[in-house]
Amino acid sequence: MTVVTEKVNLLGMSRSQLETFFLQLGEKKFRASQILRWIHQRGVSDFDLMTDISKALRERLKQIAEITIPEVIYENFSADGTRKWVMQMPGGSSIETVFIPEDDRGTLCVSSQIGCSLDCSFCSTGKQGFNRNLSSAEIIGQLWIAARSFGSDEITKHRHVTNIVFMGMGEPLLNFDNVVSACDIMMEDFAYGISKRRLTVSTSGLVPQLDQLGEVTDVSLAISLHAPNDELRNELVPVNKKYPIRALLDACHRYLDNLPDKRKITVEYTLIAGVNDQLEHARELVGLLKRLPCKINLIPFNPFPLSDYKRPSRNAVMRFQKVLNEAGYIATIRTTRGDDIDAACGQLVGQVQDRTKRSARYIPVQEVSAGISHFPQDRTAS
Ligand code: SAH
Ligand code: SF4
Repeated sequence: MTVVTEKVNLLGMSRSQLETFFLQLGEKKFRASQILRWIHQRGVSDFDLMTDISKALRERLKQIAEITIPEVIYENFSADGTRKWVMQMPGGSSIETVFIPEDDRGTLCVSSQIGCSLDCSFCSTGKQGFNRNLSSAEIIGQLWIAARSFGSDEITKHRHVTNIVFMGMGEPLLNFDNVVSACDIMMEDFAYGISKRRLTVSTSGLVPQLDQLGEVTDVSLAISLHAPNDELRNELVPVNKKYPIRALLDACHRYLDNLPDKRKITVEYTLIAGVNDQLEHARELVGLLKRLPCKINLIPFNPFPLSDYKRPSRNAVMRFQKVLNEAGYIATIRTTRGDDIDAACGQLVGQVQDRTKRSARYIPVQEVSAGISHFPQDRTAS
């Protein structure tokens, strides 16, 4: 009987995981940094091209390991420089990754799950239901693909992605281990060397996982608040019933206290016309965030086909911002980017094959109307 063993995908392994892998093969630890450089800095996925690794070890690796990159099924450029990739995952579902260039930075928005189980009332990913977690290879593969797509000059080719935000599909803290491994590779000097201040995990507010995150990493944090009181937040972000605002803000304080440097939390607040965009909400928010070192990112709601919510007027958004600014907060408005290519982050439109009881609507990418994009143009982030 032939025993078929699955090959391990080295793409998603952090340095410490690779070191253990090579030690188990009877090899030296430094093989880990060699492989990381080949895969992530030189973009090589073929063992035969890894010339500083002996032929015998390459043959062994070919038998037990692979470097499998996600399959890009759609790629587009926006007139404003925004780029979008749709990647097909095994099983037929797809995810999206978006790159936003700005003067002094390039931000990549990555997905952590196919769909999401948390069902926030204003989020198209939530409306699609949950399919599955992405593996760490599928998460880091999004950066691998983005990094490969800029020029070929050895020195500059990695400079384009300077910031990464987990604001694509899914709740990163519900895919904890894979997200942490992917973050390790993103920050790893032998791979992408992204600074921890420029790597942001965004969460809807899962308190125990947030505490756990502080124990294993020191990436930057964004919380999706969207309401200044529990009554309203329960409606918009149902997980609030489990972890109410006070518990979430306390967890944010603990997270900041654990960091080795001084940083702020990014508070995301999606403004929905007539729901949470009134001046009284802004004033309540001012009181609520009084003690938290934070900057506020206002995101005008991006409509999508399954939602009745409306985006507030530009004036309403600016009035809301003014209250926050006058109270001394740094409050930025997230401007829409990549309109012409539907480059949406946080309310992505890829097709999800939903295996949960909630119904999933399949929305082929090309059918979704333009103008639903949002993305952080947060000039205050480092
Ligand atoms: N699950 C995580 C990260 C992905 S969502 C989280 O909730 O934080 C990334 C951001 O996009 C969140 O702040 C989310 O609230 C926001 N978002 C989702 N749908 C949106 C929409 N239709 N319009 C504007 N912002 C939206
Ligand atoms: Fe999930 Fe975030 Fe969307 Fe809420 S906003 S449904 S947590 S992806």
